[in-house]
Amino acid sequence: MCIFCDIANKQAPASIIYEDNLSLVFKNIRPSAPIHLLIIPKKHIDSIDHIDDKDEALVGHLLCVAQKVAKQEKLSGYKLVVNVGRDGGQEIFHLHIHLLSGWNNAKDRDIIHN
Ligand code: 5GP
Ligand code: ZN
Repeated sequence: MCIFCDIANKQAPASIIYEDNLSLVFKNIRPSAPIHLLIIPKKHIDSIDHIDDKDEALVGHLLCVAQKVAKQEKLSGYKLVVNVGRDGGQEIFHLHIHLLSGWNNAKDRDIIHN
């Protein structure tokens, strides 16, 4: 169990944007873009380094959710980022995709986020 499991189980608060039976999307508490969402599987998986063949459909689902949420939020463009492992900048060891968007200039948009 971890903080993102707690959010998925509604044991910790979060600003939830989207939910289905496999996944949850909520706002990052410390956004590094005007729109900064986190897409997680409800099932705890430490990181991309910890997935196996049985997780293929679930990981694909998370990308479909990213697209769905972007449509829902009427985003014209966005970045998806996955940090993997401590040396990849991962802080929370529950798999998540960062969805970043909402910049109003290319300079802010094209710095490396997270
Ligand atoms: P990572 O560095 O692991 O890829 O990203 C973890 C992200 O989770 C960070 O950007 C951080 O701001 C966010 N975060 C950490 N704890 C919480 C929390 O309790 N609630 C929310 N909404 N975001 C969190
Ligand atoms: Zn977890």
